[in-house]
Amino acid sequence: MAVTVVDHPLVQHKLTQLRRKETPSDAFRRYLREIAMLLAYEALRDLPLEKVEIETPLTRMKAPVLAGKRVCFVSILRAGNGLLDGMLEVLPSARVGHLGLYRDPTTLAAVEYYCKLPEDVAEREAIVLDPMLATGHSAVAAIDRVKELGAKTLRYVCLLAAPEGVRELEGTHPDVPIYTAAIDSHLNDHGYIVPGLGDAGDRLFGTK
Ligand code: URA
Repeated sequence: MAVTVVDHPLVQHKLTQLRRKETPSDAFRRYLREIAMLLAYEALRDLPLEKVEIETPLTRMKAPVLAGKRVCFVSILRAGNGLLDGMLEVLPSARVGHLGLYRDPTTLAAVEYYCKLPEDVAEREAIVLDPMLATGHSAVAAIDRVKELGAKTLRYVCLLAAPEGVRELEGTHPDVPIYTAAIDSHLNDHGYIVPGLGDAGDRLFGTK
């Protein structure tokens, strides 16, 4: 399935601010929220519409509104919450699920510690959110879980991807389109994206 690199100048400019090591947490949060709104614009561009009858101050008309299945954002804790805020800003009616995964520091495997999704996730378009697609292990584990709970159509939105993570996710879940602002060079020995932006969770919440 396709990988879309959102190369809009506004996205690229904000991504550079996020990469700078001197960007403090408050600015990091703001840029990530803004970039999430722009990524949402791209990732949700094919949501189905239906016409409804409305009245403008001048006349009646048939005008488009979002139709059918609605959206469920699934935030992979904790860094996914940085993308979630901006996504909810543009689509406030969406439902939200949370999935807690941590990376085992030795094996880099994803270990689940929390999972709460809306009961009707099966009827919704699930948009899985995590800023960093690194090894792909968390992304694959998250999508496995969301599919297990019934979701049939999924998308994956991140800020930065490593080629290794894209290959892993595409290989395991070829039906899930990926949206990202950039695909970086590689992963280092600790599973960090290079050049990347460091630990997205720590930078968002100022925990280091
Ligand atoms: N998670 C992060 O926060 N940063 C990386 O570079 C890789 C995974």
